[in-house]
Amino acid sequence: GKGLAVFTSGGDSQGMNAAVRAVVRMGIYLGCKVFFIKEGYQGMVDGGDNIVEATWSSVSSIIHKGGTIIGSARCQEFRERSGRLKAAKNLVARGITNLVVIGGDGSLTGANLFRSEWSSLLDELVQSGQITKEQQTKFAHLHIAGMVGSIDNDFCGTDMTIGTDSALHRITEAIDAIASTAYSHQRTFIMEVMGRHCGYLAIVTALTSEADYVFVPEMPPPRDWPTKLCSKLEQERSTGQRLNIIIVAEGAIDQDGEPITAEKVRQVVVENLQQDTRITVLGHVQRGGNPSAFDRVLGCRMGAEAVMALMEATPETESCVVSLDGNQAVRLPLMECVEKTKAVTKAMASKDWENAVQLRGKS
Ligand code: ATP
Repeated sequence: GKGLAVFTSGGDSQGMNAAVRAVVRMGIYLGCKVFFIKEGYQGMVDGGDNIVEATWSSVSSIIHKGGTIIGSARCQEFRERSGRLKAAKNLVARGITNLVVIGGDGSLTGANLFRSEWSSLLDELVQSGQITKEQQTKFAHLHIAGMVGSIDNDFCGTDMTIGTDSALHRITEAIDAIASTAYSHQRTFIMEVMGRHCGYLAIVTALTSEADYVFVPEMPPPRDWPTKLCSKLEQERSTGQRLNIIIVAEGAIDQDGEPITAEKVRQVVVENLQQDTRITVLGHVQRGGNPSAFDRVLGCRMGAEAVMALMEATPETESCVVSLDGNQAVRLPLMECVEKTKAVTKAMASKDWENAVQLRGKS
């Protein structure tokens, strides 16, 4: 059968295990020889015990686990051609010519580069006697299918990335817990949530928790936000509300591009309203814990689709990223989505928020 390997790269997220499980089982079902590559690109470069054959039962009892059981890492060596040469040798040695990468835009960019260099890497390996001419001919084409695992939901082309829904659940639970204590003591709570340059987690959890105010990177507040914020909080209290919740996305910024931090917001509230105000930074709790049912199903569907895409691929087929469009798992051109995602970050860096939001479109 065809050699197929799956690995997770970049930051972990809930639901990655479901995706790994689906890749392994769909691969075996379709007659492939399936491998795990542990520790992301680092395992691919290092080879050895990092690349092991997967069995049907080796992915039993992982669907409910958070994180990624095959490990994830950042790998400097893979950014260099010499590292990718080692990786190519390790794959050829095992007959792997199909890769499923689960990671963020960096990981997908690396995979795309690897594919575009594949034939020249094999040339070099033949010339230096590290692989045979027969191996070069037999494993001449590398196919790539990607999936985005990230709680941030910051990738262009997919409605949801794997892990986002679980993070929403975790944040909502945390805010519910905070709200009950805030209610008792008539406090104001400022919750800092993750998302990097994307305000999705902040916006959605602000809705699910009836927050009074939310700060996100994509829509800097008006310059007089301290006044607006305070009058909103006062208005809520005057109608009998016993608590206030403010959500601050970790990447929130003002009109000048300066960070709006939870501490900055706290100072504004304390100085103007003298409210008892506390900050909770949720941190990695958002990335931890069991995946939600949605993320488990998402991982299953995307994993299965990724393997089907690889099995149908010809040498001319463009690398794809499996995305969610409405309720359908679809294949989109990998680099187009990565470029669009990078363009969003660029637009935001140049304070072109309108363009950033438009580019992000369905995400
Ligand atoms: P996250 O969204 O969680 O940060 P990511 O996939 O974007 O995930 P990165 O740290 O950017 O995370 O990339 C993960 C790994 O992918 C890097 O450590 C590196 O090994 C590889 N990689 C990223 N960009 C490139 C690139 N341009 N060329 C080669 N390899 C790359």
